[in-house]
Amino acid sequence: MAQKKFKTEVNQLLDLIIHSLYSHKEIFLRELVSNASDALDKLKYLTLTDDEYKDIDFNPRIDITFTDEDKRTLTIKDSGIGMSEQDLNDQLGTIASSGTKNFLNHLKGDARKDANLIGQFGVGFYSSFMVADLVEVVSRKAGEDTAWKWTSTGENSYSIEESEREEPGTTITLHLNEEGEEYANKWQVEQLVKKYSDHIAFPIFLEYDQKTWEGEGDKREEKVEHKIEQINKAAALWKRSKSELTDEDYNEFYKTTTHDYEDPLFYIHTKAEGTLDYTTLFYIPSKAPFDLFQADYKPGVKLYVKRVYITDDEKELLPAYLRFVRGIIDSEDLPLNVSREILQQNRVMSNIRNASVKKLLGEFKKISESNPEKFAKFIEQFNRPLKEGLYSDYANRDALLELVRFKSTEVEGYTGLAGYKERMKEEQKAIYFIAGGSEETLRNSPLIDAYKRKGIEVLIMDDEIDDIVIPSIGKFADFELKAINKSSAADDLKTDDDKKKEKEAKPVVKKVKDALGDKVKNVVVSSRLTDAPSCIVVDENDPTVQMQQMLKAMGQTDLPDFTPILEINADHAIVKRIGESKDEELIKDISLILLDQAMLAEGVMIKHPTEFVKRLNAVLSKVL
Ligand code: ADP
Repeated sequence: MAQKKFKTEVNQLLDLIIHSLYSHKEIFLRELVSNASDALDKLKYLTLTDDEYKDIDFNPRIDITFTDEDKRTLTIKDSGIGMSEQDLNDQLGTIASSGTKNFLNHLKGDARKDANLIGQFGVGFYSSFMVADLVEVVSRKAGEDTAWKWTSTGENSYSIEESEREEPGTTITLHLNEEGEEYANKWQVEQLVKKYSDHIAFPIFLEYDQKTWEGEGDKREEKVEHKIEQINKAAALWKRSKSELTDEDYNEFYKTTTHDYEDPLFYIHTKAEGTLDYTTLFYIPSKAPFDLFQADYKPGVKLYVKRVYITDDEKELLPAYLRFVRGIIDSEDLPLNVSREILQQNRVMSNIRNASVKKLLGEFKKISESNPEKFAKFIEQFNRPLKEGLYSDYANRDALLELVRFKSTEVEGYTGLAGYKERMKEEQKAIYFIAGGSEETLRNSPLIDAYKRKGIEVLIMDDEIDDIVIPSIGKFADFELKAINKSSAADDLKTDDDKKKEKEAKPVVKKVKDALGDKVKNVVVSSRLTDAPSCIVVDENDPTVQMQQMLKAMGQTDLPDFTPILEINADHAIVKRIGESKDEELIKDISLILLDQAMLAEGVMIKHPTEFVKRLNAVLSKVL
């Protein structure tokens, strides 16, 4: 019998599982039962929708047996869809999910550190090698006559040979190792199934020998009775009433169906009756899914129709920006053999979708009010996708605007726009923000000073997506959002005193402007600077300097050169010196330095750093 090598990723994954999940080795049973349940779901669907499978005598069940003699085994058997020879090769010899592959490729160094992460990737079947030193899978695919047996010790290779099985389905036999011996035990299996798999929608039976002693004295003898007992409730969890379910039930269901290793942050269970009958059970994970920002992300919501599983690969069940939501939608009104095309333009589906989005956003809002701590965790993970919603989901824009959060000069952590509005000064004309750059550069921008002094809050928009999102916000509750690093925000701060100063400084402005020529769009007297002698802003419709830099870094080479506007601080000694000086060369050098240092303060690379230094030295030596 030929040995086939596992694909390298499988070896990597096996290694990782064995090293990082040891303290949770019991999850292997959850994984195997959950695979069996998926296989039953798939065959159930076919028997209901496909003529070819209608004759199958489908008796969906999962059977668990064990032997507790010296070589202990544990067997999990299902009457599900089964696997062909090809399936066994493809499913159990490689890792099909591109996400998991990516994840493995990015692993470096100490794999143990990634134990928390690994749960997200569906360790699945391979977790059985934590408790077994030999695993046999005998499977027959529904509709085929031949059964196949896959065998492996979990070390580099596996083999496949022809085998026998009376009915379609899969039987997995674990030859338990020292770590796994304890699971060849009725009590253990029962506990684990109760804990992890109670809600599995198909009956799970445990077969065991019950030993009792009968008779007295010499006649005492052991009596062995063979028993088969159902050990789970076998009702689709989401169809049970909320009052019957505990947080633990919900959380276990989540972990089984998503393979996540951590409890969800919260869940939302909704039953709708009336024009449309459907049930949804949505979960918000504690950690953003690893593929949240990958184009080929895996959708997190499964579709059921009348409790029959339909698909887990339909991205249209919720809008893309809610792709972090996990859970199920179960409709009573859709046809069982609903195709993807039908789904996408189906009125029932779009109504469920719209109602679900409203429900989710409404629930997020409630949590923001009732449990700020939980909401903060939620924002830490999902602020960004919600911001995407601002420009992709116009219908729910107002609800989203109440949810997204930003950093700010006035509060620690995050604030919402509504919170900002409450703190606004009575005479304040707009909502101010600064965007484009890292949090540190933005916070240290000389521009912010003037706002701080006047007690005006500025939102710090350091998230790359902010630049794209803000224009789609435009206004919040009648207040315009204004970037302080663009020219027009300056006018709002001007006092009569500033206007007087502007007049007086006209000659200096002219000198600097002449010196800089077309390096700047304009030179103006600043009403916002205190310590710094100068700063740069951009014209209203130009991208911020940081944004330009980012676009260039992203490979956009055809960007026109947008020149900045230089604001100078008329009260500053350096600027005053320009006013007094007649030395043209000195004026030119200082003007250029004022421009370059303003760039540097904004975290922008200057074009000719060596010339900047030369000029600086020239000026210094003149002054000393
Ligand atoms: P996952 O369940 O996350 O896809 P697994 O490694 O657990 O990952 O399983 C890989 C694949 O093997 C499954 O997607 C499924 O196609 C197949 N498989 C596993 N167990 C069974 C089973 N009991 N019956 C049918 N197919 C199975």
